[in-house]
Amino acid sequence: MSGEVQGPEAGRADGEYAGLGDWTPEALGVAGAVRPVVAAPHPVLSRAGETVDPTSAETVRLAADLIATMRVSPGCVGLAAPQVGVSARVFAVDVTGHPKAVTVHGTFVLCNATVVEATRWKAGREGCMSVPDLTGDVKRASRLVVEGELPGTGAPVRLVTDGFEARALQHEIDHCAGLLFLDRVAGAHAVYQRKVYL
Ligand SMILES: [Zn+2]
Repeated sequence: MSGEVQGPEAGRADGEYAGLGDWTPEALGVAGAVRPVVAAPHPVLSRAGETVDPTSAETVRLAADLIATMRVSPGCVGLAAPQVGVSARVFAVDVTGHPKAVTVHGTFVLCNATVVEATRWKAGREGCMSVPDLTGDVKRASRLVVEGELPGTGAPVRLVTDGFEARALQHEIDHCAGLLFLDRVAGAHAVYQRKVYL
């Protein structure tokens, strides 16, 4: 998912799980490589991703690559494996510093994530690196509980979040299921041409 990253840094949540908030890409032990991001209508974006072994070397490398690619993409607050051409249930999120973020868990990668609780649905604007010319209004839960596994250790995590981070997680979990935000908009009236600044 993409959005402008600026403004005061939102407060980091601590608590639900020791480990997640302190997790760093360096903990993966491999350097990530920047991979090209594919755009719609590439078929990998509409395919449900495979469940992965979070402890495999392949998954760890993919996690590092997702973070490396997210880091070099201005405004990118989340990136899922299908967006780099890999049909797998793995994604990275980092909403640190985003003005709309309330709860912030820093940079993290989740494998095989599922939504276990979704409440307080609200519409909000979304963009996507794989849909570079459009944005859209999408209803998402603003209170969210997600379960998944960390790459490397495979440790199970239960993430409780809200607002913009919750939106980013739902956007990336959708990517892993072969869905784009365009599949979630209420209709053509909720899709907008992205402004281009020259
Ligand atoms: Zn996206």
